[in-house]
Amino acid sequence: MSIAHLSPSEAMIPRRLFSIVPKSLLQSSRNFTAGASSTLPPRPDSETAPPPLTQLSEDETAFKETVKKFSIDVIKPLVRKMDAESKMDKSIIDGCFENGFMGLEVPSKYDGPEASFFNTVLVVEELATVDPSVSVFCDVQNTLVAPLIIQLGSEEQKQKYLTRVHKDWVGSFCLSEASSGSDAFALKTTAKADGNDFLINGSKLWITNAASASFFLVMANCEPEKGYRGITCFLVDRDAPGLSVGKTEDKLGIRASSTCPVHFDNVRVPKSAILGEYGKGYKYSIECLNAGRIGIGAQMLGLAQGCLDNTVPYLQERKQFGSRIIDFQSVQHQISTIATDIEAARLLVYNAARLKESNLPYIKQAAMAKWYASVVATTSTSKCVELLGGVGFTKEFPVEKYYRDAKIGTIYEGRNFKHPT
Ligand SMILES: Cc1cc2nc3c(=O)[nH]c(=O)nc-3n(C[C@H](O)[C@H](O)[C@H](O)COP(=O)(O)OP(=O)(O)OC[C@H]3O[C@@H](n4cnc5c(N)ncnc54)[C@H](O)[C@@H]3O)c2cc1C
Repeated sequence: MSIAHLSPSEAMIPRRLFSIVPKSLLQSSRNFTAGASSTLPPRPDSETAPPPLTQLSEDETAFKETVKKFSIDVIKPLVRKMDAESKMDKSIIDGCFENGFMGLEVPSKYDGPEASFFNTVLVVEELATVDPSVSVFCDVQNTLVAPLIIQLGSEEQKQKYLTRVHKDWVGSFCLSEASSGSDAFALKTTAKADGNDFLINGSKLWITNAASASFFLVMANCEPEKGYRGITCFLVDRDAPGLSVGKTEDKLGIRASSTCPVHFDNVRVPKSAILGEYGKGYKYSIECLNAGRIGIGAQMLGLAQGCLDNTVPYLQERKQFGSRIIDFQSVQHQISTIATDIEAARLLVYNAARLKESNLPYIKQAAMAKWYASVVATTSTSKCVELLGGVGFTKEFPVEKYYRDAKIGTIYEGRNFKHPT
């Protein structure tokens, strides 16, 4: 068929497509064009147009500024020391509570801030620009621990824990064990019924915030013969007899974030310590980790941004071959690629968070955001180390730490093997 035989709308379709698009579809597209003026919605104005994803409300902007100020004034001077000592300074833990970064979604009924999930994303992102360890400290409390109690807690449990998780109690989420990591529901910790109580036995591994935790959300199997359907979630206080927290792991990155084993030796808990329903622990874990991935995405996003922000000023000063490093075009290409990758990660993370906040399906978007942001963090921090040359390889500059910290993003809360890389 020659182009002369086509109608104007058909003629605009590339020939290659015209040959493969069914005729019925072309017909319907013609109809759509013809009736367009009567069916198209009115052009939105600035009032009615959906806001850009990166546009923050006034409250969100003010909150982000508060987090930024705390990060620069209080955290930044301690970052190197905390990394070297593998220990979070008490002033940082206290400061996170005092500044309202913990238990953000706790309802006002329990004296909580009753803030949105998006505020958690802002806290986690902004803290990570300065120290990803402090970021994950707040992340676990805000995306895993507090939401599970808000969603599932009995009134008694809410009065006990929700009144403290925004004030002074850190909680830890205990799922992983030595023999069950990616295959989380192969866990061996048991909770055997004993009269009206349960006796918990076993050991959890890799538990974030365990060193400072006042209580633990523990996944234990009450009926191992039922497989994952026996897994039940328990709220266990740190001072429960038989509970002990092991030595902090000596890690590659996020060293100031405590990661410890937690042991349970005949720890007796009452039936009322069950969070939610008996046998539903596997379901709760899956569900909360879906939201948790948005948090890790935000951590990786902030980390990548912080690393880039610490790289560019050096490139603007350092001269080689009579030019500033930043003036070499190949360097500008690399910087613009990193900046674009970070912006793309931000859109994915913010979109997943806004979907969750709007009660829309978000599981796929959360996994995409976490995967992409962690890949961007890994590649961009590596590139930044290279761009700084020799100094990038030393502890005099913060960039090597971002590089080390980034690695955890592809490991926890859903290994990246679940996605193609
Ligand atoms: C710093 C840190 C903090 C953590 N915090 C917590 C916490 O607070 N609470 C908690 O419960 N857990 C926590 N974890 C545990 C974390 O979630 C696990 O490390 C993670 O699930 C991976 O498990 P694993 O280490 O046992 O690795 P494994 O599951 O043994 O995996 C080893 C390798 O095998 C690969 N692999 C496994 N299965 C498959 C498969 N089916 N197909 C292809 N490849 C596969 C993995 O990708 C990986 O490369 C933390 C871990 C770390 C390192």
